[in-house]
Amino acid sequence: MVKENLQNVIDDMKIACEKSGRNINDVTLIAVSKTKTNELIMEAYESGVRDFGENKVQELLRKKEELPKDIRWHMIGHLQTNKVRQLLGNTVLIHSIDSIRLADTIDTEARKKGIHVDGLLEINIAKEASKYGFLEEELYEVLPIFARYKNLHIKGLMTIAPNVEKSEENRKNFEKIKKISVDIIEKNYDNVEVEFLSMGMSGDYTVALEEGANLVRVGTGIFGKR
Ligand SMILES: *Cc1c(COP(=O)(O)O)cnc(C)c1O
Repeated sequence: MVKENLQNVIDDMKIACEKSGRNINDVTLIAVSKTKTNELIMEAYESGVRDFGENKVQELLRKKEELPKDIRWHMIGHLQTNKVRQLLGNTVLIHSIDSIRLADTIDTEARKKGIHVDGLLEINIAKEASKYGFLEEELYEVLPIFARYKNLHIKGLMTIAPNVEKSEENRKNFEKIKKISVDIIEKNYDNVEVEFLSMGMSGDYTVALEEGANLVRVGTGIFGKR
């Protein structure tokens, strides 16, 4: 089941990349494995997936302990500052930096551990009250702040687009993120790079790819309903 689902997702990704003149090799599929068993995760692993996403620190740490060591774990959920210390050193990328307070904590704890941490800024692109993340308007006040960090490095943007009937409805949101990313690169902030755009989930990853995503986070489409 996981194997077939995965093949369908990858086929769709290929089509979306071709449609928009992009190279599939420049794109990484992150299998979102939250709430899913090690057995299901291993099915994806055996089909070649090495990037997995989790939204809870305890669950991520447990699975990391129990599963193969070459898995790259992505933290994609809201991160509480009191969980930062435990998490650091266990992920390739923290997608969900949604406040300066959190960024401060990550930088401080990373310095104490003597490690460097890569993170993405989460953008609340449709200004939903239910979502975390920076608003586009406040972003430009926030971006200069990252220059003071020595151990946390900003590598791009992440967004969780609204839950919509038709994926097309989110195209404008993905377009906006892409536009912001181009603008950020142009303005050249210290310690802020835009190597990654993490956007697109089961319902809308093909549209996100067409608009420039290079990290897509797919859960249901691979593992089935949660
Ligand atoms: C759960 C989750 C996903 C995956 O959602 P699906 O709709 O199941 O693909 C992606 N991103 C984040 C941040 C999530 O929490």
